Amino acid sequence: MKITSKTGLLAVLGNPIRHSMSPMIHNFLIKELNLDYVYIAIEPDNIHDALDAVRSLGMKGVNITAPFKTDALECVDVLDESVNFSGSVNTVVNNDGMLSGFSTDGEGLFRAIKDMDISLKNKNVLILGTGGASEAVCSMLYSKNVANVYVKNRTLSKQTSFILRLNKRFDTDIFKPFSPGDKADIVINATSVGMCTDESPISDYSCFDGAEACIDLIYNPRKTSFLKAAENAGLKTMNGIGMLVYQAILSFEHFTQVKVPDSLCKEVFKLFDE
Ligand code: NAP
Repeated sequence: MKITSKTGLLAVLGNPIRHSMSPMIHNFLIKELNLDYVYIAIEPDNIHDALDAVRSLGMKGVNITAPFKTDALECVDVLDESVNFSGSVNTVVNNDGMLSGFSTDGEGLFRAIKDMDISLKNKNVLILGTGGASEAVCSMLYSKNVANVYVKNRTLSKQTSFILRLNKRFDTDIFKPFSPGDKADIVINATSVGMCTDESPISDYSCFDGAEACIDLIYNPRKTSFLKAAENAGLKTMNGIGMLVYQAILSFEHFTQVKVPDSLCKEVFKLFDE
């Protein structure tokens, strides 16, 4: 990669950020596609100031990660439909000082689910957690015509407001509190429980009975206790790398307007084998 005075600057903004895999993915794509960009990680205290700097420094675009994905909504000039839909921004493109916000998290997970050869239409889904990732995933599930989304969260008040908010946003009643006995085809962990530990978000695995697949949004470790239990119960399983990789690829396409070929997508996954 040759950096010149014309090289376009891309970055991920988050705090903390030093664990981020985004620079590895984006710089790999830049190199393989022979494009004139470089992608770095920045740890701002304040997302408003950071996005003002994106404008004033003429950066080409940025990814937004925790804890800024919701606050960034107020700082961009144009919101794509995907943002209104998911309630958060993870991609900002700078067109001559005009910042456009996109969300690629939900669609990223959808592409990973397609790779598992699983259809979402008319399926019942149980989702654990009601944070930002869950909201993006639930919005995607609604758009793919699932039958019901059963929601379970540690803090009950947040579970209740989450269900009300999503049903209202989409004028639907598919989002429901999970009750023991509700049957799910797909079970998703969208809590942070199990990240870098062997803890599991649930102790009762009866929700796996009769289910087809289990997805954990966590990718560190690659196989969480939750995924191990699902595998033992005979379910198809997937960790969070699929979502991570595809949301990055979709962001990259917004930044560069270059379509990433399927063969190169497969090469990105290999970076995580090393
Ligand atoms: P968040 O907004 O902070 O939400 C965290 C969720 O986890 C909340 O529902 C919270 O419940 C729950 N939780 C936290 N600690 C818990 C505990 N000890 N017991 C039970 N529930 C607990 O986080 P987020 O941004 O949604 O991220 C959630 C997870 O998804 C993280 O592990 C993150 O790394 C992962 N993620 C992966 C990708 C990817 O590309 N693979 C993308 C985004 C996020 P309360 O409401 O009760 O606090």
